[in-house]
Amino acid sequence: MLLKHALKNRIGTDVRLAMILLFAGVTVVGVTPFAVVRALNGEWLAVALDLVLLVVMIGNAAFAWRTGNSNLAGKINAVVVSASCALLGGVLGPAGLFWAYTVILANYMLAPRLLATVCGTLLIIAGLLVAPPDSSLTMAAFAVSATLVMLYAFIFASLTNVQRKLLEGLATRDALTGISNRRCMEMELAEALKGHHARGEPATLAVLDLDHFKLVNDDYGHDAGDRVLMAFTERVQACIRKRDRLYRLGGEEFVLLLPDTDHSGARAALEKVRDAVQCEPLAEGLRVTTSIGAATLEAEDDWPRWLARADSALYQAKDDGRDRVSFDAGSSRPGERRLRLVSGRPLR
Ligand code: GH3
Ligand code: MG
Ligand code: MG
Repeated sequence: MLLKHALKNRIGTDVRLAMILLFAGVTVVGVTPFAVVRALNGEWLAVALDLVLLVVMIGNAAFAWRTGNSNLAGKINAVVVSASCALLGGVLGPAGLFWAYTVILANYMLAPRLLATVCGTLLIIAGLLVAPPDSSLTMAAFAVSATLVMLYAFIFASLTNVQRKLLEGLATRDALTGISNRRCMEMELAEALKGHHARGEPATLAVLDLDHFKLVNDDYGHDAGDRVLMAFTERVQACIRKRDRLYRLGGEEFVLLLPDTDHSGARAALEKVRDAVQCEPLAEGLRVTTSIGAATLEAEDDWPRWLARADSALYQAKDDGRDRVSFDAGSSRPGERRLRLVSGRPLR
């Protein structure tokens, strides 16, 4: 039951691992009968090759399962299986090369396209080298058909790659502004925290909230509000460093991660951002201000606590009159939220 659950969990999140396990299973089921028949026929070299293949496939699947390094395991699989197939061609002659088609296809599912293409090409060349001299027409057909299979597999792998990138983009990007979304923020903050804690480097997290944004929508329409949000994003990105990360948390709230930035550095950077937002109209001739709450990283922070501290500071900035940067004093209780006061109107 536990194994079934773990299997479902791991396979559902790592397609390559699923492929490695599947191929190991298929190899056991598919190759074992051949190994037995060859043993009965006394073809001991072929039997040895089959056994090596079985051991490597099972061992590699175990390695991928234990370490989670399915990328490396996939590459090992592609190289070993291609080499075994070429050797099988050498031992059994052209009959051994029937496996080349499945190996060529499988390589594109297990390894990067370049490695899969190199393995496939070498396999075809090896097949031609071990062919008996009187089989030139058969081998020409083998070379052409195997190359075509490789070409189709390459195209299919390329298409899958494009679609994967597209899906990744959809899952991690905000549709309106094009910047990273909350899901991406959660993953990146967790990663960044690990690094910062390990190296003992300072870092600051800020939550930015546009002031009285509801009034922008009410007075100028939702489309104008959208354009303001897009212009806001561009304005902020123009005045932060390349390594700083801006995320849309949702609505008119954004999160800014400032790596390697202590309290005084963050104050200067965030004042610059605040000023850049309000100094000129963002869109539709509308001048909008932003309130910013910030928290410098503390040793006991995990990312939700860090974000909650920055969010508490934002509430302080709103309470203090908006259009300002407020830092978490360190004494706030994360998660304790107060209602923000809404007053005044956006500047025109
Ligand atoms: P405060 O200064 O206290 O932050 O006031 P506010 O009006 O900005 O705050 P509130 O949270 O009351 O309103 C946020 C508004 O943002 C409400 C919602 O209509 C608007 N909003 C959220 N997402 C979008 C969006 O994608 N596009 C547009 N145009 N408006 C949005
Ligand atoms: Mg707001
Ligand atoms: Mg808000």
